[in-house]
Amino acid sequence: MVNPKPGELLEETYIVKDPLGSGRFGKVWLVEDKQTGKRFAAKQCACRRPSQRKEFEMEIELMNALDHPKLLQLYEAFFGKNDVTFILELVTGGELFDRIADEAFDLTETLAVKYIRQICEAVSYMHNKMILHLDLKPENILCVSPDRLDSIKIIDFGFARRYTPNTPLKIMFGTPEFVAPEVVNFDPLGKGTDMWSIGVVTYVLLSGLSPFMGDDEQETLSNVTACEVDFDDDSFEDVSEEAKDFICQLLSIRESKRPGCDQCLKHTWLSKPDSHRKSLSAAVVNLKKFVARRKWVRSINAVRAMTRLQAGLKKNDGATFSK
Ligand code: ATP
Repeated sequence: MVNPKPGELLEETYIVKDPLGSGRFGKVWLVEDKQTGKRFAAKQCACRRPSQRKEFEMEIELMNALDHPKLLQLYEAFFGKNDVTFILELVTGGELFDRIADEAFDLTETLAVKYIRQICEAVSYMHNKMILHLDLKPENILCVSPDRLDSIKIIDFGFARRYTPNTPLKIMFGTPEFVAPEVVNFDPLGKGTDMWSIGVVTYVLLSGLSPFMGDDEQETLSNVTACEVDFDDDSFEDVSEEAKDFICQLLSIRESKRPGCDQCLKHTWLSKPDSHRKSLSAAVVNLKKFVARRKWVRSINAVRAMTRLQAGLKKNDGATFSK
């Protein structure tokens, strides 16, 4: 069980090393425990208002409830005056989509099936505990280690929520390209909300194209609510009909119509992993562009987040980073 330790400083216990990544809410660093030499990832986020603190406490509580090899583990968390630091399991393999784009290895549907199966298994575990992830997207899928490309882990439970059937849960957050129509329309969410995002991730993985991407955020959101999916691009030439059917089922407009994880794992596409060995070379070319564009968007968001964080830290005796 992890309890927040108010006032404890990151640099008292850990040596802060290299940056590992950043997102809308803060920055992630490689840190080493001074006593044991064990390495972790430290994620520091600005936390100034009591309402923000409540949100982070909920994230900590939910992460403590999760114990699955495909879900990132939280070791401890502590609050400074204006920030919160999560000490997380270190995942060294980098973001899955970066690896595919950078290493230009032979991406096949067989491999894609391995990834989507692992995602469905992890999300099934969460859904059985009545927890929704609500931010499934490529950046939140990491490779477990640099030398293993077939083993992944899901990270970032910042938007996760407990779900009680018959108690409407509504939220208005997420990443436009990956959110379901019910999020955009502020309608009640359910397990199907995560299933939609798995459908979008599968579409991108097999083609390198983002199914609802518009010229601006407004257009992207209106494409999501229009829910028109096509496989017209040449990149889909080598993609099997089973994979397209899998995607179509997940990208149904009605949340309740989408198959759950356990149903997905029984879908023909996911249950016959060795039947599709064709190289998805067009997808890899497109993924390079997809990854570059997402990085650009994220770097803008990260600069905004860091400006907010630093403004808070100036007034804070709490943890500061040396790099
Ligand atoms: P977002 O804007 O996506 O909501 P965020 O601010 O919540 O992001 P994370 O998604 O948790 O931050 O982390 C940002 C990036 O840092 C990840 O995409 C990943 O590259 C890296 N990262 C996060 N956690 C770890 C970890 N445990 N080990 C290694 N790298 C990590």
